Amino acid sequence: MSAVWAAEGLVAGVPAGTVLRSAVFQLSVPSDTPDQTTCPRCAAAVPRWFVIRCGHCGHHFGTMGALELVTALVLGLLLGRFGGRPDMLAFSFLGVLGVALAAIDLSVQRLPDRLILPAYPVTIVLLAFAALTGHAAGAFGRALLGGLVLGGTYLALALVRPGGIGGGDVKLAGLAGLALGWLGWPTLMAGAALGFILSGVVSLALIAARRLTLQSMISFGPFMLAGALLATTLAGAR
Ligand SMILES: [Zn+2]
Repeated sequence: MSAVWAAEGLVAGVPAGTVLRSAVFQLSVPSDTPDQTTCPRCAAAVPRWFVIRCGHCGHHFGTMGALELVTALVLGLLLGRFGGRPDMLAFSFLGVLGVALAAIDLSVQRLPDRLILPAYPVTIVLLAFAALTGHAAGAFGRALLGGLVLGGTYLALALVRPGGIGGGDVKLAGLAGLALGWLGWPTLMAGAALGFILSGVVSLALIAARRLTLQSMISFGPFMLAGALLATTLAGAR
C-alpha cells in the first residue's frame, strides 16, 4: 500500500464525487422513466452539473457530502493498491463508476444500462493498455474469461431464481469479473463470495433489527461492488 498514492486518491475522490452527483441524480428514477431533471420538492429545473442543492427552494439532493466521502475512500483504497501500476486507470475508472452504480441501486433498486454497457469497452481498452505496457497478456486473457465466468454464473442464478438476481446484476457481474479476473482466479472467487457474504450478513442484521422481513428484497449491486472492492484491495499481487 502506497501512502502517497492513497492520499492522492482521497484528494481526487472529492471532486470526482461531486461530478458523479449529476449522473446519480439524473438516473435515480425507476426504469423506463425519463431522467430526473427537476427538483423533487419544487419542480424547478436542476442545472446539468454541480447538482448539490436546488437553486430555487434550497432542497439538498441526496445526503450532503456522502458521494464525495465514499468516492474519496474508494479512490484512496484503489490508488493505494494500484498507484503507479499500468492497471491504475482501469481500477480507478471502475471504482468511481461503482460508487455511482451503488448509489443509484440503493435509491431506486436499479443498475442502469446507460452506465454499465459503455463501461465494458472502456474497461477492456484500459486493461488492454495495461496488458501492453505491463507485458501481461496472460492477465488480459484471464480478465476476459473472468468476465464471462462471473457474468455467466449470475445469469444462471438469475434463471434459477427469478426475482432474486436481476438483469442489471448479471451485467454488473460481467464487469466485476473483468477486473477480478485480471487479478487472478483466487481474487475472482473471493470477490464473488464476499458479495454474497456481505449481503447475507447485512440482511440478517436488518431482519434482526426488524427493518426487513424475509420476503423483502434489498439491492444486491452495492454488496457485489463492496465484495469486489474488498477482494481487489486485500488480495495479494497476481
Ligand atoms: Zn427545489
